[in-house]
Amino acid sequence: MELVVSSELEAQRSVAPERAPVGSAREQAFVDLTRLAATLLGAPIVLLALADDGSSRFEAGVGLDVADAAHYLSFCTSVLERVEPLEHGDLAGDPRFAAHPLVAAGPRLRALAAAPLPGEGGRALGVLCVLDVVPRRFGEDQRRGLQALARQAAARLELDRRERELAEQRADLARARDEAVTFARAKDVFLANMGHELRTPLNAILGCAELLREEATAAGLGRLLPDIQTVDRSGRHLVAVIDDILDLARLDAGVPQLRREPVAVAPLAEEMEAAVRSQLRGKPLRWRLALESGLGDITTDATKLRQILLNLLSNAIKFTARGEVELAVRVAREGDREFLAFRVADTGIGIAADKLSLLFREFSQVHDPRHGYGGTGLGLAISRRFARLLGGDILVDSELGRGSRFTLLLPRGESPHEAPPRRD
Ligand code: ADP
Repeated sequence: MELVVSSELEAQRSVAPERAPVGSAREQAFVDLTRLAATLLGAPIVLLALADDGSSRFEAGVGLDVADAAHYLSFCTSVLERVEPLEHGDLAGDPRFAAHPLVAAGPRLRALAAAPLPGEGGRALGVLCVLDVVPRRFGEDQRRGLQALARQAAARLELDRRERELAEQRADLARARDEAVTFARAKDVFLANMGHELRTPLNAILGCAELLREEATAAGLGRLLPDIQTVDRSGRHLVAVIDDILDLARLDAGVPQLRREPVAVAPLAEEMEAAVRSQLRGKPLRWRLALESGLGDITTDATKLRQILLNLLSNAIKFTARGEVELAVRVAREGDREFLAFRVADTGIGIAADKLSLLFREFSQVHDPRHGYGGTGLGLAISRRFARLLGGDILVDSELGRGSRFTLLLPRGESPHEAPPRRD
């Protein structure tokens, strides 16, 4: 009889998918375990078989001839089926085993002690089987020792299963990440194209509306002007909505490019009046600009700053039927950090205290859109995200029926990450 060492099992292993790779830690662990079982039970032959789709397959062994592996495995079947230990003191005296080729001939096996490898849900993951060539009884300690070794083998298999699952999960995650990256890239390209595709015809429409307005005025066709104005207003509204959605998508896709440069604060604030003049027209609203003296420069992204202010001012005008809309700018200090506070105050419909937390959520409109205010509910969400990207924030306080005050705080200097303390 030949002592089988693990590497000799290589040929058989190549067929079973989950078999421990030759030379792997698991293979070594199983070889050690079978040797330990042989020593503990003082028997020459030990076989470790694993359950494989209703049958058993050879995993490791000592003292047996690999060519006879299939015959050895036949001893394991009943243990696998019943998931309980099996012991036999004299196989030759039992008519069920007497004619077995390894009992009647070959090594002339006589005694058997086998313990199942306990798995989840009362299943056996395999069998650890000890065989002797002389009739004998096994001691209680040996029996318990064999079962303990079988449990160790089961634990090792369970560990392996979890490692495999983890590896699969890691692979799934990597796949999902790759897909997300591909999707994000496709989204960027799509957004860039869509922005262009949507804006080009809209700009053409707006250009035509402007031409029509001039021609209608020149031709004395004043009755057409209200319709032309509707085309112009709707077109501009659509451009604003598209810009909001594209801004949001860009923010979601990653940090948008910021272009910081020194901006003179007072001229920028004065520019705002001209920007909202058309919205103020026809409304019984006073416009006030209150600028602290010596405001100087701010180093920030001027386009984003204008966009935020325009959004706050447009809202102030939209939600105020009469009274006043004010833009006030002053220097604010937090310790040794210097900020500029742009405050937009109105005497409009105000916001209920329990609705303030909804203001900066995407697509949320605090007032019933049926009241005809229009909008997408994106302006403030985008404005706050821009403000935070620039190292600042937007704060709000409001009183229902009396008006609102939105304050944009931005760091004056170069350090964009120097965020002011959040107050929400
Ligand atoms: P939009 O104005 O396009 O709906 P915003 O994000 O700019 O989106 O504003 C969200 C909501 O916050 C508005 O729909 C409105 O209900 C409320 N809101 C914003 N500014 C004011 C304001 N100055 N006064 C009252 N309500 C306001």
